[in-house]
Amino acid sequence: MGFDLHVDATRWHRHTDEVVAATPGIVPVIKGNGYGLGRDTLAAEAGRLGLDTIAVGTYAEVPAALETFAGDVMVLTPWRPFFADVVHDSRVVHTVGRVDDVAALAQHHPGSRVVLEGETSMARHGFDRHELASAVAVLGDLVVEGFAIHLPLEGGHLAEADRWAAALDASQVETTRLFVSHLSPTELARLREQRPHLEVRPRIGTRLWLGDLGALTVRAHVLDVHHVSRGEHVGYRQRAVPRDGYLLVVAGGTSHGVGLEAPKAGGVVTRGKSFARGGLEAAGLSRSPFTIDGRQRWFVEPPHMQASMLYLPAGATPPAVGDVVTAAVRFTTATFDTTTFA
Ligand SMILES: *Cc1c(COP(=O)(O)O)cnc(C)c1O
Repeated sequence: MGFDLHVDATRWHRHTDEVVAATPGIVPVIKGNGYGLGRDTLAAEAGRLGLDTIAVGTYAEVPAALETFAGDVMVLTPWRPFFADVVHDSRVVHTVGRVDDVAALAQHHPGSRVVLEGETSMARHGFDRHELASAVAVLGDLVVEGFAIHLPLEGGHLAEADRWAAALDASQVETTRLFVSHLSPTELARLREQRPHLEVRPRIGTRLWLGDLGALTVRAHVLDVHHVSRGEHVGYRQRAVPRDGYLLVVAGGTSHGVGLEAPKAGGVVTRGKSFARGGLEAAGLSRSPFTIDGRQRWFVEPPHMQASMLYLPAGATPPAVGDVVTAAVRFTTATFDTTTFA
């Protein structure tokens, strides 16, 4: 207990229901820390939503996904011959993006289900469009479940998606199913209009799981409250406190993914302004993600492993030990002591 996630279950389910209803063919992405909610929780939610396929990030994530989800599990990281943890199962769909890999997988694991990935302007993984013929030539007994493209972050990539759809049409790849990542709802609708014979399946994580942040509250317990005087040296680094006030020790540190947000790197003018505002930023303090007495407060020093030390000015109302304060975290890198659905 200490740094906890509280989920308004009704509101969160309502949001996922809405996204799924508005997004035909959706493949939920369930990877990493499970977007702060945990991969098992998301896999169970995908089941509740009645979806047939989920996408995980790595092969290491496959065994748990197969246990918690009854449908197909697509692996977003492309298959490589040197991976030691590849799971071969009739419900696993591999991603392939190199001709040599297609040949190797076809030779060693004929019958495997694959999606072929095209290399987009992301330039992360995938075939160049000119390699598709060579890939098809070595497919052997692999079962092609679709073609996949991963675009840069949402917005402005319809033309690129359509170029790949055209390349797929012109190729010998025998599929009309196109998995896409990072097209906006409008772009998805357009692509479907332009290519009505294609079954477009969007792979979505953030917008599905974290699209209604109001359903998620991070609650951090106040562990200690101390009076401090200007100039008093505190913390691991024995830094001087800039003014009289309170030093708060709050649950949540680097082990929870609480990071240091650097103060805005302003020029002399903004530095002067911030000095006029109270000098905390000018004094080299960084803003914390914790809100106390209505304001986002400053770290006294970089967060510790399990707790953070914050400065509260004398004029503010300090919380009591045991009180709960809220924090704004980056969910894809956050870890919580407990997660409660209520
Ligand atoms: C992570 C990932 C996604 C999902 O991204 P979000 O921004 O969370 O929706 C989709 N496709 C691929 C290939 C990914 O790696």
